This record gives sequence, C-alpha cells and structure tokens, in this order.
Amino acid sequence: METLQLSKGRLVMLTEAAVILFLGFWMLEEYANNVYLQDYVASFWAVNWWVAPAAVAALVIVGGISYYLGLGRNGMDEAMPERKTAGEVRVALAQKELVTNSGVMVMDVCPFCNSSLRMVGEDRFHCRKCKRYFKR
Ligand SMILES: [Zn+2]
Repeated sequence: METLQLSKGRLVMLTEAAVILFLGFWMLEEYANNVYLQDYVASFWAVNWWVAPAAVAALVIVGGISYYLGLGRNGMDEAMPERKTAGEVRVALAQKELVTNSGVMVMDVCPFCNSSLRMVGEDRFHCRKCKRYFKR
C-alpha cells in the first residue's frame, strides 16, 4: 500500500507549478503555431531589446541596495545595544548625562555635597563623601 501524504502548502505549490508550466507550454505552442505572434515577438524585441538586460540590472541593483540596507541595520544593532553595560553607565555618569532607556534623567550628583554618586542598585545611589543614600 502506498500512502501519499501531501500538505496543503505543498499541494498549492504543485498546483501553481502545474499552472505555470501549462501556461508556458501554451505560450510556446501559440508562438510555434501563430505567425502573427512570432511577428509581434520579433518586432517587440527589435524595439525593446534593452528590456531584458535592464530588468536584470534593476533586479541586481534593488537586491544589492536591500542587502546593504540589511547589513547597515544589523551593524547599527550591534553598535547600539538596547541595554547599557556597566561600563557605559559609568561613562554616562561621569559625563553627567545618564538617561535611562525610558528617557528619564537620572540624578548623578549629590544635592548636598555635589560629588558624583555611585549606583548601588537599579534606582539607588550612594554618595561617597557624605555617605547618604538616594532613591530616584
Ligand atoms: Zn554627598
């Protein structure tokens, strides 16, 4: 017993391929048997000989552009990770412009002694000079 199992997608693909093959054969048959179609195709290519190479060139250019755009996007993702590393947070603290991912400015200097604060938790800060703790 032969069990033939075809998934729906595969069946659609096969049907499409059969239709394309049928239409292709039909066009070839028509071309072989129809003098007017031969004349038409001959005159079409005589005038529009540049269409095929132009189409190929356009495909190559579009493909190349989308390929490089994709590469650029990937490169950007590598250069700008969503999460800040500890080193980046320290640099941002030193530059006094630490902004969280939500865009909130984080307190970076002690309001009492104006010395830089140390991050001890996700939203807690410690002043080394006056030993005060601050919460954002
Ligand atoms: Zn302080």
